[in-house]
Amino acid sequence: MGRGRENSSISYYVERMLSIFLENRQLITEKGWIVSDPESPRWWGGLESYEEIIISSILVQMTRWETVAEVIENMRQRGYTNIRSLASLSEDEILSIIRKVNFSRTKAKRLRALAIEASKYPTLKEFVKYGLRDLEGIGDETYYSLLLFVGNETQFPPSEYGSRVMSRVTSMRIPKSRVRETIESNLERDLFKYKLFHSGLVTVGRTSCFKEPKCGKCILKMICKLNNNNEALRI
Ligand code: SF4
Repeated sequence: MGRGRENSSISYYVERMLSIFLENRQLITEKGWIVSDPESPRWWGGLESYEEIIISSILVQMTRWETVAEVIENMRQRGYTNIRSLASLSEDEILSIIRKVNFSRTKAKRLRALAIEASKYPTLKEFVKYGLRDLEGIGDETYYSLLLFVGNETQFPPSEYGSRVMSRVTSMRIPKSRVRETIESNLERDLFKYKLFHSGLVTVGRTSCFKEPKCGKCILKMICKLNNNNEALRI
């Protein structure tokens, strides 16, 4: 493969981005993705268990993370971040605990259904792998994010941020529906690398790669084709 072609391939960009994310692990951590040991639950906003990650994935929809963290802390102190304890509560009891989050009634119903279903599996990992997919409120992004951050499966979560950042950096249009296969074909199947890469993409999406990108403060600006060539690609 010639040098020019090599430099334009997605694997080249993935490798460069991974190094940049590693160098900027402090920024990624400050933005809520606690770069940790590969199997630590702390990656997900510093939470203390896989069960808390699953519960927060329902609570966070259309709600600020700070509010979710407060509710989780309250649930933790009362023992309700244990899935089996949560499953023993009525919908109204769950509602009274999570009332601070938006759409709390819908989420109380979903959380109860999730907790009851999860209690049927011998391990949380098996629940995430086999029982989570068809539950109400679990879209593709949430499912694959939980597979990675709870199930510790090297499957890459598709996200709008991933689509936008990858498309702009490589100058190749990568829709959300192709993010997963694109990364999985170009990134070594390594749990730490998968978690870091997803965290890095979301961090860049949330801090600088807005609809109107703020490239000047972006950690990827040195390698980003849109920034370097002023290309007109807008995703
Ligand atoms: S340099 Fe600009 S376009 Fe490229 S990823 Fe960063 S913010 Fe997005």
